[in-house]
Amino acid sequence: MLALGVIADDFTGATDVAGMLVRGGLRTVQLIGVPSSSGADDIDTEAAVAGAEAVVVALKSRTTPAADAVAESLAAWHWLRAAGAKRCYFKYCSTFDSTPAGNIGPVTEALMSELGTDFTIACPAFPENGRTIFRGHLFVGDVLLSDSGMRDHPLTPMRDANLVRVLQAQCGAGTRVGLIRYDTVARGTEAVRQRIAALRSEGVRMAVADALHDDDLRTLAAGCSDLPLLTAGSGLALGLPELYERLGEARRHADAAGLDPMVGPAVVLSGSCSQATNAQVAHWRDAGRPARALDVRALLRGDGAAAAEVAAVLAWARPLIGRGDGDDAVPLIYSTAAPSELAATQSELGALEAGARVEHALAAIARELGSMGVRRWVVAGGETSGAVVQALGASALRIGPTICPGVPWTQAQRRAAPGAQGAQGGSIWLALKSGNFGAPDFFSAALRMK
Ligand code: ADP
Repeated sequence: MLALGVIADDFTGATDVAGMLVRGGLRTVQLIGVPSSSGADDIDTEAAVAGAEAVVVALKSRTTPAADAVAESLAAWHWLRAAGAKRCYFKYCSTFDSTPAGNIGPVTEALMSELGTDFTIACPAFPENGRTIFRGHLFVGDVLLSDSGMRDHPLTPMRDANLVRVLQAQCGAGTRVGLIRYDTVARGTEAVRQRIAALRSEGVRMAVADALHDDDLRTLAAGCSDLPLLTAGSGLALGLPELYERLGEARRHADAAGLDPMVGPAVVLSGSCSQATNAQVAHWRDAGRPARALDVRALLRGDGAAAAEVAAVLAWARPLIGRGDGDDAVPLIYSTAAPSELAATQSELGALEAGARVEHALAAIARELGSMGVRRWVVAGGETSGAVVQALGASALRIGPTICPGVPWTQAQRRAAPGAQGAQGGSIWLALKSGNFGAPDFFSAALRMK
């Protein structure tokens, strides 16, 4: 029985929310993109989603033009609805990442009209990871979003912490954005319901919801149980499994996070430039583990230089793949850079084009490493994870145990390349980390789990 269909605007965001649902006991599968309606994809997908109580469709729509993001999100919902989903959850980042043009507003409006609803909430809060909302302002740890490292994000710099204002600017003239304040949430489910009724009667169609603690998210989830659409970070999902069980819409399972034992050669790929990832790369290097920085300037110069750099990286990594010294010898390949360095590389081609070229190179590297036999992948960066997973030809991920809040291990059946004999197929395991997440030792902590 499919209780919930989730549309996530990037890959790590999808694994984050899927991990949250699994922790709550729902069997959850993450699909990479909207399944095509023909051939092998269908068979893979049908087998993968059989028995799932929640399905998360991972899109790569955070930074695409709004019209494309809307079209893809609607296609994802059509697929989920056909698979039996009654409720829809639009998942974005806990730091409300959006480009200045902004896709969260237009996608929400389109889903509202598709689901025939006149109201929904927006709540990226994730207290466990330090994302809280008060009076509509998003905090990252102790500072406003606009004072956090998100100021300098390569693709989605966030320079206004007032989410009511940010969301309003992304919506059409007919959509008013309001606020469900913390004092309301603190009074409980009934107060939230009454506030929603009041906002509706004033013609407000979306409300940013304050939340400081996990219990606030549970209150909001219960107070919104009549709404067919929720829009949020992954935090709001923490109360849903229990709520759906109470409503008789799902059953929870103790073994929802079970994966097969994780075996085989491993690699770490990092294309995130967040503060957290910079610290993780530094930690790995400081521990004396093998690490190779990509020469990003070569990647940006064009095909010849880029291809030569990819070949050089692969030549460096090849002898390390599956070396017998355990996970201390796992190679890390990264484009991760400090803000000043990043600004310098972006100034040449623009952030989007520079990002696309780096992603392209990491995808090519992943493809080759896959054919060298790598089976365990730790990947840092949302967009980067999307590119890597696509390159590996994984179409559905079973969600497993949590490495750190927001990041579970996942297992995928790698599709055999046409004409390949066996060796290309089989399971691989992926830890897909959103840039901002994880302690400095995240990479080795992930690899320690078997
Ligand atoms: P995060 O999860 O931290 O947001 P993403 O992978 O989603 O990480 O986004 C980072 C973007 O920055 C990607 O498009 C990536 O290709 C790009 N990028 C990574 N390193 C560099 C670099 N050194 N110069 C320019 N762009 C880069």
